Amino acid sequence: MRELEALLEYHSRLYYELDTPEIEDAEYDKLFRELQDLEAAHPDLASPTSPTKRVGGRVAEKFEKVRHQGRMGSLSDVFSEEEFLAFDDRVREVTPNAVYCVECKFDGLSVALEYRDGKFVRGLTRGDGEYGEDVTDNLMTIRSLPLTLKEAVPHLIVRGEVYMPKEVFASLNRAREENGEKLFANPRNAAAGSLRQLDSRLCAKRKLDLFVYNIQLCETPLPDTHFASLEWLRSLGFPISPLNKLCGNAEEAVRQIREIGALRGTLPFDIDGAVIKVDDIAMREELGETASVPRWAAAYKYPPQRGETVVREIRIQVGRTGVLTPRASMDPVAVAGSTVSFATLHNADFIAEKDVRVGDTVVIHKAGDIIPEILTVVKEKRPENTVPFAMPTHCPSCGEPVYRENGEAATRCINPDCPAQLERRIIHFVSRDAMGIDFLGESNVRTMVGAGLLAGVADLYDLTEEKILSLGSGYGEKSASNILSAIEKSKEAGLARLLFALGIRHIGEKAGQLLAAKFPNMEALLEADKEDLLAVEEIGEESAQSLLDFLKSPHTKQLMARLQEKGVSMDSKQERKGDKLAGMTIVCTGTLPTLKRNEAEALIRAHGGNPASSVSKKTSYVVAGEAAGSKLTKAQSLGVPVLTEEEFLKLLES
Ligand code: NAD
Repeated sequence: MRELEALLEYHSRLYYELDTPEIEDAEYDKLFRELQDLEAAHPDLASPTSPTKRVGGRVAEKFEKVRHQGRMGSLSDVFSEEEFLAFDDRVREVTPNAVYCVECKFDGLSVALEYRDGKFVRGLTRGDGEYGEDVTDNLMTIRSLPLTLKEAVPHLIVRGEVYMPKEVFASLNRAREENGEKLFANPRNAAAGSLRQLDSRLCAKRKLDLFVYNIQLCETPLPDTHFASLEWLRSLGFPISPLNKLCGNAEEAVRQIREIGALRGTLPFDIDGAVIKVDDIAMREELGETASVPRWAAAYKYPPQRGETVVREIRIQVGRTGVLTPRASMDPVAVAGSTVSFATLHNADFIAEKDVRVGDTVVIHKAGDIIPEILTVVKEKRPENTVPFAMPTHCPSCGEPVYRENGEAATRCINPDCPAQLERRIIHFVSRDAMGIDFLGESNVRTMVGAGLLAGVADLYDLTEEKILSLGSGYGEKSASNILSAIEKSKEAGLARLLFALGIRHIGEKAGQLLAAKFPNMEALLEADKEDLLAVEEIGEESAQSLLDFLKSPHTKQLMARLQEKGVSMDSKQERKGDKLAGMTIVCTGTLPTLKRNEAEALIRAHGGNPASSVSKKTSYVVAGEAAGSKLTKAQSLGVPVLTEEEFLKLLES
């Protein structure tokens, strides 16, 4: 029992606090059940702090810890129809006429959302059930979360599940794989990791969504049933699942559980089960609760969906940043609602750990119900004469040697002229947040690379009307002139965007801005040494080294010389407007009346200040707009002066 406790403790921490589980949920549930059974058989040996008696994880230090008004409990699980029928028997002993509401069990992260006078004021994660983390600012980035309700209800707390749509999850992991970053195991962990980002702009990019499924607290009278209260929440503007269904008896409930199970693969969000709840609120009170779960509800967990097939080939793809990704091509097999014939093998470590070989029979599942992944190799079925797979030593696209940095999982081709990387590099270079060259979308770039017009980003500035017209149909004078003027305009994008556009590893949009705030132009940057780079706020060892490698490469010097010759601005556009804010740290929060968040931050930088994303005693000012949440409250409690946008602008002029 002690061993199981320690094991569950270990996996809970990975899952709830670090969002990086090592084992599948079904495996965790099995260990959990084993401990529960032992505790039932030997109650005298059960530890009072056993993981079976607690809810969820701990509260991370980085967010403000707030006590829930009303406990945020968990649910007891059933793993088969028989177990559900046993649950039904227990319910009917106390409340023979119970009607159930059967719902999807969304696989996301539970949150409590508080409204006062119909306005959203605060949102907390479930945390350990008693205390949660204040993630108000991040929740405000979720579009389906109503900031104002259709009725000014005096005080209301609802509970819901924040989730990452499957599509978003798939493209996020694709991008992470391309950048050689660690992948999220499933949409649930990706959603939890996103909602607990300190910078809400990062959270906004993750496109999270929400379903609300319960009322935790309401100071005005409520309907007598759960289903009716959900309909009321829907009328207030909350997103409520369209799949909730009332079922008069156990048979109907089983049918609905099967129905949801059959829909699972086609839903745009991930579910890990169905929840069956007694609908009548008075009956719920009669049934009561145990220490951490209600007796009036059960979570039905669907068995994991798997398939077995044979690996026929392992192919290598090369991404924009040069990462080599092995992919298994397999005999087609049906898993979780679709036919699967490819699975990513991520990197050399993954292949070595699983020892996947061509010819092997493998068990596959879909991570988050969407991404096919190899779980294990069936070693007993391995044919003779198979050989361990080895990553290539040379890039399959350009033939140059490939490298693997110490401690990194990814193998990379670092040849900047590698054709496999070229298209993607140029697409990134022209994209909106980079050089922002409108009219040059992905397909145009592909056509131009294919036609031999572009062999590097600098070639964009050599394009002429004649060259574009030579591409033939679809390229007339009008589109040529649009493209050329957009390219012309991009010459003024400035150093910050140029640095981001160049696609240097570890140098994102923000790093580009911070560097441009410190260095007046590219020339100064080309002369910088590592110390100088490390002195820039938020540039750490890894980013500094990667930037330095880039700046010192002879190829970079040539490229910069060519871009400069074409008139591409190498100067930091963030000209200093003064140093009114020198040495000050300023946090913007809420929606400001005229300035966008990035504009306000650019102004702070231009006046020598330092925009930050979290409030502490060291914060000089907080600039607060409409619907400012926890940062404002924190500033007030710490006595940090709070300014409106108008006051902030006056301060700059004073
Ligand atoms: P749970 O997932 O079994 O059920 C409770 C949760 O269901 C609620 O907190 C709520 O967030 C959610 N839910 C979704 N839809 C709902 C609806 N319609 N109505 C009510 N609730 C709804 O319990 P848990 O405590 O959140 O987590 C346990 C789960 O976490 C298990 O599935 C377990 O496998 C997994 N886990 C996995 C690992 C691992 O290492 N893989 C580690 C720890 C926990």
